[in-house]
Amino acid sequence: MNTTYHAIRKRSKELQREIVRFLTDLVRTPSFSSQEKKVIQVIGKEMKKAGFDQVRIDGLGSIIGRMGDGPRVIAFDAHIDTVYAGDRQQWSFDPFQPRIKDGKIWGRGTVDQKGGMAAMVYAGKIIKELGLNDQFTIYFTGTVMEEDCDGLCWQYLLKEEKLKPEFVVITEPTNLNIYRGHRGRMEIRVEVKGRSCHGSAPERGDNAIYKIARIALEIEKLNGRLRKDRFLGKGTVTVTEARSSSPSLCAVADGAGIHLDRRLTAGETKASALAEVRDAAKRAGCPDAKVFVLNYAEAAYTGKVYPTEKYYPTWVLEEKSPYLKDAVAAYTGVLGKAPLVDKWTFSTNGVAIAGMKGIPCLGLGPGNEVYAHARMRLAPSSTSAAPPRFTPHWSPG
Ligand SMILES: [Zn+2]
Repeated sequence: MNTTYHAIRKRSKELQREIVRFLTDLVRTPSFSSQEKKVIQVIGKEMKKAGFDQVRIDGLGSIIGRMGDGPRVIAFDAHIDTVYAGDRQQWSFDPFQPRIKDGKIWGRGTVDQKGGMAAMVYAGKIIKELGLNDQFTIYFTGTVMEEDCDGLCWQYLLKEEKLKPEFVVITEPTNLNIYRGHRGRMEIRVEVKGRSCHGSAPERGDNAIYKIARIALEIEKLNGRLRKDRFLGKGTVTVTEARSSSPSLCAVADGAGIHLDRRLTAGETKASALAEVRDAAKRAGCPDAKVFVLNYAEAAYTGKVYPTEKYYPTWVLEEKSPYLKDAVAAYTGVLGKAPLVDKWTFSTNGVAIAGMKGIPCLGLGPGNEVYAHARMRLAPSSTSAAPPRFTPHWSPG
């Protein structure tokens, strides 16, 4: 047995209670998008305790912990904002008072993705304690606003903070498998104008709702035609909202628009997706419809506004990548079994790191993607978080 892998496993087990305690601290500190300040402080304290060489916060409010100062630069990322808990009636416990049951931790954000953050900080501690890092500068980033605008935080880290990693591990939930990509996405708006007139004589006007309705039906057909990729699956498009304007409820609509959620598979780009929607409008008899990508320009908790287009490109790390080969070898060494190499269904910060910048990325994180953003229900016998008792899913071989 490789003694390094054995030492990593042993130390991880010894630190289990501490890791669980840190994750419950993170869950107890709500951190909705653009409201992450408090949880960033909790992470900063833990990083300092774990012996990180440097801990700092960037202009958008993300935290960057550094270990080592070697010539090769890599990064581990966890976004630490979460979605809201939704209807509290649907939870059997307070989502911000985490529970521990059946070897799992329950609460808002445990899966997506504070579990990844907790694991990362202690991975840094173990790397340092065991002296495993002799050639790397390793950044551990706790990033903001991902749930609202995936990748924005990494656009900022790469362009403004000048981080230059050769490789990044994203710790979004992979059910402890290794993921190597996902579909991209974009938010598209289609708008048409009509001509208003009195509702009692509609033939005098030009109803914008009829126009947008025809376009919406063409979008449905477009979805059926979109291409399929063997690894990533099919590109999709769907109408998620329709709005119209009219001077009165007794007048013909003078304007209408639809919002499209477009998921992009391999080979599909912003230009190709927009051209298809313009074509759909033409097929619907509305060649003058306005088709455009929406913008994101919300303020971070620091007050910083860093606008971006809502275009999140597809990315895939190629199957023969040496990073993937090394990751599979290390995974197998530590966990005693080969990983499943797969893809995410949802989108991650990889859209900026790999999709926009072409930096190789992989995913490895605790928690199952299917529980992300979900409400949780526990059997009545559940215990509260303290004192933590925890059994790992994996059995060290
Ligand atoms: Zn996430």
